[in-house]
This record gives sequence, structure tokens and C-alpha cells, in this order.
Amino acid sequence: MPTRKLYWQDPYRTTFTARVMQRLNGERPGVILNRTIFYPTGGGQPHDTGLLGGVRVIDVSSDDDGNIIHWLEAPLPQDADEVSGEIDWARRYDHMQQHSGQHLLSAAFQDILYRPTIGFHLSDNTVTIDLPGPPPDDEAVNRVLAFVQNAISEARPITAREYPLAEAIHLPLRKPPTVDGPIRVVEIQGLDWSACGGTHVRNTSEIGHLVITRLERRGDQTRVYFLAGGRANADHLQRIRVTRELSAMLTTGVEDLPAAIERLQEQMQQSQKALRQARDLLTQAEARRLIAEAPHSGGVDIVLHILESDDVKELSRLLQALIAVPNVVALLGWAGGGRPRWAAGRSSNVPLDMLESLAEVKEAYGVQGGGSPEMIQGAAPDEETMHKALHLLQAFAFDLPDID
Ligand SMILES: [Zn+2]
Repeated sequence: MPTRKLYWQDPYRTTFTARVMQRLNGERPGVILNRTIFYPTGGGQPHDTGLLGGVRVIDVSSDDDGNIIHWLEAPLPQDADEVSGEIDWARRYDHMQQHSGQHLLSAAFQDILYRPTIGFHLSDNTVTIDLPGPPPDDEAVNRVLAFVQNAISEARPITAREYPLAEAIHLPLRKPPTVDGPIRVVEIQGLDWSACGGTHVRNTSEIGHLVITRLERRGDQTRVYFLAGGRANADHLQRIRVTRELSAMLTTGVEDLPAAIERLQEQMQQSQKALRQARDLLTQAEARRLIAEAPHSGGVDIVLHILESDDVKELSRLLQALIAVPNVVALLGWAGGGRPRWAAGRSSNVPLDMLESLAEVKEAYGVQGGGSPEMIQGAAPDEETMHKALHLLQAFAFDLPDID
């Protein structure tokens, strides 16, 4: 005997008693009852949670024989032949509002835009339906929502009934039946007939409010994110709070927020540009100072400098500024992070092959690095090795023939 589905008789029932038919004592304890108000995951609607004999029900599923299995946090007391249970009503009622909202929204997309629903997904965070084709435009979506809101204000009864297949095929069902036996049809009075095993609110007014929050193109389909009932209210309150905070921060009305943020972005871009220019001037001044203080050899200024900056990028910026000046060999180290870095280069008129120098430094001290004949850079295992490597590079610079 399959489990009797009390949630079909009365989806508003929150407590019940039932006989224990079978205990499942695997890794996860489970129990099958002769009847239940616990809805098992199916038809896009998630399972209920709650208590059974004082034990938490964490999952509910159905098997091919029509048994509904309550998966429990702990086994039921062994002597219990009969148990009483209660579902988490807030969770269930939320599912009922979303699911009824889905039927109504799907009916609206079908009747207004001729787009059938080809997927439905309901989770703790999101509710979606999938439609064929690209996202409809705002005007089309507004017509769909007007249809939905009108049906909600009409408080149309939502009822469920089982029909023999022969009768069901004469109903204007959204999708052709896929089962042979009797078919449970959920009707939004005069508006929608859908084969469905889910739980629904009594009438459309209990859907309360329905909003579409996002349309997402997915290949040649569109995913419609929507919220109904309590979720739509919670979302509305959150948006009010966020926009109020933004309005206070930017001292502007809600409708002027996008323009205010655009102005902020422009100001930020200008500030960043000014900051970059100031930084470049500082780097060039630092390069001139280092060159002025550097020892000369054979007409070349040989700069050896360890950077104090927190920013490793300053290493290559300073190197670029130094070798942009003629007659310079620059050897820079940076030990600001965990791993010392170094960079070395020369002006384009200085006949020193940095790659050749690099090969010798690699051989002498095992440092890592790479680059071009004009510029090389790399890392050293510790500060001492970095200093040794830079001094060896400096020695190559002092050995250069006179370029004057
Ligand atoms: Zn349904």
C-alpha cells in the first residue's frame, strides 16, 4: 500500500498521527508511515522538514512504489507503533506561495507572450522558470506582470482534483500528460490547468505579490528569476533598506542614484589619472637623484639601489625611468614581500648584454630570472643572495669598455 498523501487532502494541515509501517536502519535512519503530511521532493518543489515522534525530519523522498520515506536525524524510539508529527509550516507555506506563483506566472507567459514553461526550479534562495527564446523586453514583461497582479487581486480559487486519463486529455492542460493512471490537475479557476503533484495555496490572493527580479539569457533560452509571497515582501524590504542607505550616503533621492554613482565613477577615474601622473613625476625625480649620486665608470652612471616601497610594481617603474636616460646601468632590489625581487637594465646606448650577465649570475648564485638584452628581472631566495647578485651585475658594469 502506498503512503496516503494527507498533504493532497489538506495542504494546510500541520500536525498528524500515523502508523509506523517500516523502519530503515541504514546509514541514515528512515521511516515509512501509512500516511503523511510531509511532502517529498518532486515536481520542482523541495521536501518538507519538521518533527516525527520528537525526532527531526531532515529529508523526505518517495520511491517507485509510492512509499514516502522520512529521513531522520536519529532513529525513532523502537517501541513506537504510532507517531505524531508536525511540519515546519513557515517553510511549507513559502513553498506553496512560490509554487502557486509559478503556475500563475507560467500561465501568464503562455497566454500573453505564447512562451511555454520548459523548466521550474525552487530552492531556499531562488525560484526560476525557463522559457524558450531570448529575454522579452520590459514592455512585454510588464504586460505579463499586470496579468499576474490582476489574477492575484481576483482571488481566484486554486483547486486540485484527480481525473481519469480519458477525461484529463479533454482539459486545456499546459503540457500533455506523461502518466497512464489518474492525473492530478491543479486548476487556477478559469485560467490554468496543470498536471501537478505539488501543494498550493487556496486562492491566488495568497500569492500576495509576485515580482521578476532578473532575466538571464542561457543559450537559446531565458531563465526568469521571480519571487512570490513572503519572499517578494522580504526582497522589497531589503531593497528599501539598501536604497535608503545609498541615498543617505550619496545625499540624493532613489531615482537619482544611478546618475550620482556615474558621477562618482568619473571622479574616481580622474583621481586615479592624477595619482598616476603624480607618481610618475615622483619616480622620475627619484631616478634623476639616483643617477646624480651614482658612481661613473667609462662614461656610464651605475646605479645600485634597494627600494623601500611597499609596492613591488615600483621596481619596474623606477627601472624604466632610469634606463630612459642615456648612459645608465641600473641594478634594483626589493625585499618588501616574503621573497626578494630584483630588476636590472641599461640605457639603449650602453653595450651590455643583460642576458649574458644573467646567465653568469644564475650560475654563481642560483637566482631565478629572465628578460631581454636590455632588461632582466627575477627573484632571489633571500636578501643576502639578492645583494650578491646585484653586486656581481654591478661588477660587469664597471668592467665595461669606455663608451665616450
Ligand atoms: Zn506544479
